[in-house]
Amino acid sequence: MKVNFVDLKAQYLTIKPEVDAAMAEVIGNTAFINSRSFEADFAKYIGTEHCVGVGNGTDALFMAMQCMGFGPGDELITAANTFIATAEGIGWTGAKPVFVDCDPVTYTMDPSKIEAAITPNTKAIVPVHLYGQAADMDPIMEIAAKHGLKVIEDCAQSHGGTYKGRMTGTIGDAGCFSFYPGKNLGAYGDAGAVVTNDEELATNIRKLGDHGSNVKYRHDFQGTNSRLDGIQGAVLSVKLKHLDKWSDRRIAVAAMYNEGLKDVCVTPQTAADVRHVWHLYVIQVNNREEVMKHLTEQDIACGIHYPVAVPVTPAYEDLGYNADQFPVACGTQDKILSLPMHGDLTDEDVQLVIDEVKKVAK
Ligand SMILES: *Cc1c(COP(=O)(O)O)cnc(C)c1O
Repeated sequence: MKVNFVDLKAQYLTIKPEVDAAMAEVIGNTAFINSRSFEADFAKYIGTEHCVGVGNGTDALFMAMQCMGFGPGDELITAANTFIATAEGIGWTGAKPVFVDCDPVTYTMDPSKIEAAITPNTKAIVPVHLYGQAADMDPIMEIAAKHGLKVIEDCAQSHGGTYKGRMTGTIGDAGCFSFYPGKNLGAYGDAGAVVTNDEELATNIRKLGDHGSNVKYRHDFQGTNSRLDGIQGAVLSVKLKHLDKWSDRRIAVAAMYNEGLKDVCVTPQTAADVRHVWHLYVIQVNNREEVMKHLTEQDIACGIHYPVAVPVTPAYEDLGYNADQFPVACGTQDKILSLPMHGDLTDEDVQLVIDEVKKVAK
């Protein structure tokens, strides 16, 4: 039996009539550019006043930071273990990403490491709700308030995840989402969004993504082209209605994995008062290559998120970081292993993965 890492085909088959009708409607109306209706649906779901659709999650990060006025000479603090896009968003404004290590239990940004990274040039903190689990936002917001810093939440992996009852994306000044197909809420192509309660920020992000314009052919500044397509918005609005159900299934799958694997490897922990939506289910094993080889032979897909911590990837070589500065992120890099995780896994799939991991994991 094959177990996919993510199964977009299986998911599509459960919602095919709805998705097909929604896409046909967009085509019928030739409403290809922009999707105000999805923006309204998503703002309502998240609970912010504004949602601005953009081309992808990397643009969401870059555009939010650019419109907050960050640029050359500024430093923005983010987590060492994330997908590179978080740092790219910072870098494309001209600002410098400054990395801090993660917490060994939750893998999210370690708030106790932030203050040591603050300099007179620091302008913002960019926590990442990694793997679907909210970063520890209370201390992060406290540090930000104390030092007059903005907070931009990277929510690319945490759609519908909460921290102390609050949706991720509503706690800082802006929340940046990716709707890349494999995310918890995924489009049928690239898409992203910024959510915020700051009306001026929302207006500026919208203008930035539409050639510096909100009145046709009046360009107030040099912008770019980064909008959320009508077809993607239609797909996302359909899927949004199912998101909580899919998240609940992910949570149930994680509970089965946790119970089944607790004696053979380090299983992931959920912080108190967090709705962890399990974008990824990441264990630690000492013999990872062996486990991966065995799972692959059994037709069970697995992955590594991420094989090299961002500060020590070649892209950021010029910043001069070394692995010793990130003992947690770099120290777990050779042990972490992501198991299949999506809303259409059956109990049988999950049991099979548990049984096969148990045969080899050390
Ligand atoms: C996927 C991802 C992004 C970027 O999203 P894209 O839509 O692929 O540009 C940013 N941050 C994190 C943590 C991600 O996982």
